[in-house]
Amino acid sequence: MTTVLVVEDEIEIARVVRDYLRNAGFEVIVVGDGGSAVASVRSAKPDLLVLDLGLPGRDGLDVAREIRRWSDTPIVMLTARGDETDRIVGLEIGADDYVVKPFSPKELVARVRAVLRRTRTAARGDEIVRAGDVEIDTAKMRVSVGGTQVDLTPPSSSSSPRSRANPAACSHARSCSTPCTAWRSSPTNARSTPT
Ligand code: CA
Repeated sequence: MTTVLVVEDEIEIARVVRDYLRNAGFEVIVVGDGGSAVASVRSAKPDLLVLDLGLPGRDGLDVAREIRRWSDTPIVMLTARGDETDRIVGLEIGADDYVVKPFSPKELVARVRAVLRRTRTAARGDEIVRAGDVEIDTAKMRVSVGGTQVDLTPPSSSSSPRSRANPAACSHARSCSTPCTAWRSSPTNARSTPT
């Protein structure tokens, strides 16, 4: 289940936000100050943070700055109307979106969903490696060249990767090719060689 940590000191707002997020299917943790927010991000590892900027003691911007040092947890800020500077600073620190108070709880839920969608898509993007026309999707184990998927089924002949990687298969061959050389110089093999 997707967990949202709500950091809000105004109990009534916290309650409304919690109820709307729960109704939308999220697991919700609510804390009322910055110190607890940082501790909860570390311990509960929420999927997203709804962070009020106006908190007693350690304010929301300070919390966001601290969390961004060691976590990419998406942050949706709750800001007071007119706090344009805070919003800009928050976005520059690394918050992902904001909602201005007073806000519609439905809009907040929609923004939470949108940010989760965006950040998850971005995270999946890390699994795709591109070089020129070649695209390697490590998650799906697919390779395409110029948009056309390449069939990577190993051939059934004796040149299958298994037989090429087998050192015994190379022991009688003078023309030991690249895969065998790679095996000979592999770290595992190097460790077993007395120096
Ligand atoms: Ca507040």
